[in-house]
This record gives sequence, structure tokens and C-alpha cells, in this order.
Amino acid sequence: MSKVYITDYIDNPDIEKKILGKDLSLKITRNIEVIIVWHQKIDRNFLNQFPNIKGVIRYGVGYDNIDLDEIKKRGLVFCNTPDYGTDEVSDTALTMMLSLLRGVFAYDVFSRGYSLTWQENIIPKLRRLSTLTLGVIGAGRIGTALMLKAKVLNMNILFYDPYKDSGYEKAISVNRCYVLKEFLGRCDVVSMHTPLTNETKSMIDDNFISNMKQDSILINTSRGEVIKDLDVIYKALKSKKLYGVALDVLPDEPPKDCDLIKAWKSHDKELAYRIIINPHTSYYTQESYVEMRVKAAENAKRMIEGIEPLNMIT
Ligand code: NAD
Repeated sequence: MSKVYITDYIDNPDIEKKILGKDLSLKITRNIEVIIVWHQKIDRNFLNQFPNIKGVIRYGVGYDNIDLDEIKKRGLVFCNTPDYGTDEVSDTALTMMLSLLRGVFAYDVFSRGYSLTWQENIIPKLRRLSTLTLGVIGAGRIGTALMLKAKVLNMNILFYDPYKDSGYEKAISVNRCYVLKEFLGRCDVVSMHTPLTNETKSMIDDNFISNMKQDSILINTSRGEVIKDLDVIYKALKSKKLYGVALDVLPDEPPKDCDLIKAWKSHDKELAYRIIINPHTSYYTQESYVEMRVKAAENAKRMIEGIEPLNMIT
């Protein structure tokens, strides 16, 4: 009897079928023990359809669509799949940083309008990488991958993560700072890699920016709501406190109209080339998409076989 059901999004579960075989059900039945979820809201009503359910697995990282209180109340297990995109997100953060630091994106946009002059059109603020400090907030999977990749650029690398074991900085041979204000004052580029928690929600506010270095760069590929609102960023770019910003995630997706989004969309001459926005896609490659589905299905298999699953949130 099939025990695993995919709730939404995957139209052709060929990858999951290879792992789960006849344990994968294409319809809801009383025998379902594990559901694998993409966008579907998992609440009391939805769970009521599965009288024998033991666990819920989310394909991706975030679980805003899961009613964890209801899961706990029913004594169910909930797991996410947090590690399929570590390479991809750290690559995007690195690419965003390099694009802003080398002016690649800006020169491309500007030079489309040049005709009589060419090579003398330099962006005066550009700096040599080996004189700069990359600061990572959150030295977990993605933050660490970024630091290791950035090492070959000869940048000074510093991280802030109060929850990491002391000595982790030695293990990966980078520098560490325990005081956020001091950390921000030392970094030319700050890249965010924390989860969204009560502590990190709205962490990037006017005060955070005021502690950053003049002409620094902010990169966020973590969660949109770590930034209080986009006006904070707009003001910082407008006042030139921030040289540039690169965001893969936004407080609202798609973004609501505000000064930052207007400047970005309108190709504002002063600001647009200092703003990079991606539509929350840094997790994606053909390979990571397959890995995410394989890992979720393998975890479902562990659950139905009575083996403790990986990445248990509850
Ligand atoms: P992780 O759990 O491996 O690492 C997070 C790190 O943040 C941990 O080391 C933790 O100690 C640290 N941390 C927690 N609170 C902190 C605080 N207040 N200050 C400083 N550090 C703090 O997570 P990960 O897999 O590296 O993911 C990082 C972020 O990237 C998450 O928010 C995740 O949702 C996001 N993400 C985004 C995408 C995307 O497509 N943009 C894809 C995957 C993950």
C-alpha cells in the first residue's frame, strides 16, 4: 500500500518514483503516512485528510506555509530540505559581490550609451579586491561556502555569528568578530546568510546601516525580511552611505512599489547601476532542483522505513 503523497507542484514525479517505487501514491488515501509539500498550506483542515499521517517534508528550506503548532499538537515529524542549494546561493552572492565591485553590470549598462568616448569612462569608486574585507553574517552552510570561495580572491574575510563554536574561524582559517557594531565598521562588503528568526527579522535597519562603512556594499540572499523595509536601503544608496546593494530576496515578493523599486525599474542614472535584484532564484540550477527532489524523497523513504529522518524541525 502506497504511503507517500506529493501535495502540489510536481506534475511528473519521475525522480521521486525512482526512489519510492510503489510507495509513492498519486492520490490521497487513508494509508498515506508521509506528505511531501511545495507551496501547499499545511494546516488542520489539510491534515484531516490523512488519518495515518506520521510526517511532513517540505521540498525547500522555508516553512512559512506549514502550521508547526498543528504539526506539534498531532505529534508529527516535520523536516525541511535545507542543503540542496548551498553551492548555488553562495555562487550567486559571490557573483553579486564581484559584479558590484568590478562594475561589470554598471559598465555594460553605461557603455551602451557611449559613442565618441570609450575607455576613459571609468567608475571612480571601484577598489582593488585584495584591499577589501568581505563580512559574512551567519557562518552556516552558505556563509561558509561563500567565505571559502572568496578566499582565492585574496580578500580579508571576517564573519559574525554568535552561535558558531569558538575556534570555527581557525578551522576554516578566516577572521571572526563577536560584536556586530565593530564587525560592520570593518567590512567593505556585508553578505547576509542567517535564517529568519525573531533576532534577525528587521536586523538591517537605519542603525545597522549607520554602523556600516562609508561606500560599502550589502548583499542579501538569505530572507527578505531581515531587511526592515526597502526605504532603509533607498536612503542609504541616495545618501551614498552604501555604494551598492544586491538582493535575491525581498520583504515582499513580487516587490511592492517603493522608491528603491522605482529607481531600479526606471534605470535611474544615479542609482540603478548600484542596485541588483534577482527574483529569488539563487537556489536554482538543473542540478540543485534534482538534488532537492531526491533528498526530499529519500527522507520520506527513511520515515516510512522507521529510520530517523534528516533535518527534523519538530
Ligand atoms: P544555516 O542554518 O546552515 O546557517 C545559518 C547560520 O546563521 C548559522 O550558523 C547560525 O548560527 C547563524 N545565525 C543565526 N542567527 C544569527 C544571528 N542573529 N546573527 C548571526 N548569525 C546568526 O543556513 P544556510 O543553509 O546557510 O542558509 C542561510 C540562509 O539562506 C537562510 O535564511 C535560508 O533560508 C537562505 N536560503 C536562501 C535561498 C535562496 O534561494 N535565496 C536558498 C537557500 C537558503
